[in-house]
Amino acid sequence: MSLPNLESYLGTCCGCQQPIQGVPHLIMLDIEAPIAGTGWGCYLCHLPNNGALAVVCNECLISQSMLFEVIYGYPESKQRLRFVNMEEPMTPFHHKANHRPQVNPEPYRWDS
Ligand SMILES: [Zn+2]
Ligand SMILES: [Zn+2]
Repeated sequence: MSLPNLESYLGTCCGCQQPIQGVPHLIMLDIEAPIAGTGWGCYLCHLPNNGALAVVCNECLISQSMLFEVIYGYPESKQRLRFVNMEEPMTPFHHKANHRPQVNPEPYRWDS
C-alpha cells in the first residue's frame, strides 16, 4: 500500500487553476459548500461539515491570490465549481460566536 500523492489527490489549484507543485493547502471558506456534508465543520461549535473548501498552491497562498472556484463534493473527487456558477446569494457559514468551551472562571484548586 502506498500513500496517495497529494498533488494528484486533491486536483488543481482553485486560484491559478494549475496542477499543484508541492504541498497543497486546504482553505476553509466562510460560505456553505456546494454539497452539504462534504466540507469543513467544527467540533467545538457542533457545526456539520457544510463549509466550503478551496485548495490552493503555495504561490497562491502566499500571494493571497483571487480564488475562482471552490471544491465541489469531497476534496478527493477533484471536482470544482466556479464562483460565477454558484447560486446567489451565497449562504454564510461561520463558527458560532460562543464556540469556545466554557471555562470555569475560578482557578483550579488541586487540594480541595
Ligand atoms: Zn495556485
Ligand atoms: Zn467553531
